[in-house]
Amino acid sequence: MRGQMNKGGKLQQYRPVHKEKNQTEEKIATSAVTPQTATQQPTPPPNSRTGMQTNPQRIFCHRCKGFGHMARDCSNVVFCINCAKPTHRTEDCIYDKQPRPMAKLVGYGAPGLGCILIQNTKPDPPKEHNNPLAMISTVFGGELTEAQLEQGFTQQFKWNWVWKAKAMPNGSFQMRFPNKIKFDELANFDYFNVKGTDVQVNVKEWTQESEAVGKLHIVWVKITGIPEEMKGYQALYEIGSNLGPVLEVDMATFRASNVIRAKVGMMELGVLPLKLVLTSPKGLLFQAHFSLEEVVELGWFSDQLDDTFEKIEIQENTLEGSSQREGKQVVVVDPMTEDHHVSKTGNGLLKFVRSKSWCQN
Ligand SMILES: [Zn+2]
Ligand SMILES: [Zn+2]
Repeated sequence: MRGQMNKGGKLQQYRPVHKEKNQTEEKIATSAVTPQTATQQPTPPPNSRTGMQTNPQRIFCHRCKGFGHMARDCSNVVFCINCAKPTHRTEDCIYDKQPRPMAKLVGYGAPGLGCILIQNTKPDPPKEHNNPLAMISTVFGGELTEAQLEQGFTQQFKWNWVWKAKAMPNGSFQMRFPNKIKFDELANFDYFNVKGTDVQVNVKEWTQESEAVGKLHIVWVKITGIPEEMKGYQALYEIGSNLGPVLEVDMATFRASNVIRAKVGMMELGVLPLKLVLTSPKGLLFQAHFSLEEVVELGWFSDQLDDTFEKIEIQENTLEGSSQREGKQVVVVDPMTEDHHVSKTGNGLLKFVRSKSWCQN
């Protein structure tokens, strides 16, 4: 017996048995679940040695890892907590079998440009919803709790609606409104008092930007001085990433006229035009030149962000002292591996994170 049955007859766990003993059966069980074989042979193939029909209990399900049925007929409940999908078990999830993703630091090109890029973000949620999602921000009067906000709205707006507030990291709250008309009604006020408190709030539509504490400047940058060996899709993206996350390299213009343009997000624009020394595994040095071609969208940076930078700067000063900040830096572009290294001469990685003192320099 391969596994143990529980009271409901469902398989609880899979126990591998010695291969030699069951080799013939193993083979049949595997071939029986191949979809092609299954459609060609509706009845299980007879055992070649005995001429007997295959025991249906030997049919293996790849979905729930149980026996007696195929994956397409599987009615057992499986759920993966990693993917939040009812398509496979957590134990079978490919995520746990792959190297864990790591964030990338981009913007090594100049002090003040550095930021940490997370590439595996979720797609935008669908916008249409019967109950509009609002952002409630406090304007005056100090801080609010979720409960105070919910109570205040429940007493004030008796709309036969259960108010649920969710505090967000930037200090605002998410709340769903019963409908668009009621939302517009409150969004029209500049601000109003939350009943039972001294706090004034305003109501706006919730967007992804509502959660942010800032947004990078989005610009088109023209890049010159790039050697032939770096003129390829991957190397051009690597080169662009010295300024920040690369949204796009204009490959059409590059192929048509050999002009390199990259659309990048940047922490600040004051560093442009910028000269950078690039190298490859061959060790030759090339001087690349980055110049601002077009501002697509100016970014914004909230005061909260400045607090973060001040904290990072304090840590950095304690760690290595400010006298060690000077030093040459060379960016290595490896067209073969897509690897990106920054050679450090007495500088911690934090050097590349935006800080006030460098902005003022
Ligand atoms: Zn199954
Ligand atoms: Zn999964």
